[in-house]
Amino acid sequence: MGECLFCNIVARKIPATIVYETDKTLAFRDINPRAPVHVLVIPKEHLPSLMDVESRHAAVLADIHLAAQTVARQDKIDDKGFRLVVNVGKDSGQAVDHLHYHVLGGRKLGWPPG
Ligand code: AMP
Ligand code: ZN
Repeated sequence: MGECLFCNIVARKIPATIVYETDKTLAFRDINPRAPVHVLVIPKEHLPSLMDVESRHAAVLADIHLAAQTVARQDKIDDKGFRLVVNVGKDSGQAVDHLHYHVLGGRKLGWPPG
């Protein structure tokens, strides 16, 4: 087993509740949900953070955004709205060093984040 948690989820070595998948991305429920809907959308390729994204990753970024739309429709938060969040680095509280987009919804979300 490799040492990246989310790479191990991609490899099905660690279980996760997968809700959507494409050739480039995986979407699964957050283990510690902060909202009624809390799904993580990740690239299957290991990228530690948004700061490691390069122009050659354009297709995977598009795929992630389309996957987020699909997740929102599947979980019926598309009408009422939702938030797509990427934590980057220490001040954001990024805890897993594999790029991930949080899809959060199903309740009124505060702004700005604490
Ligand atoms: P971040 O703070 O942006 O790095 O978010 C990391 C997220 O990963 C947190 O919301 C965690 O609850 C979530 N997480 C950690 N381990 C797992 C896991 N094994 N399966 C699903 N989500 C996880
Ligand atoms: Zn990884």
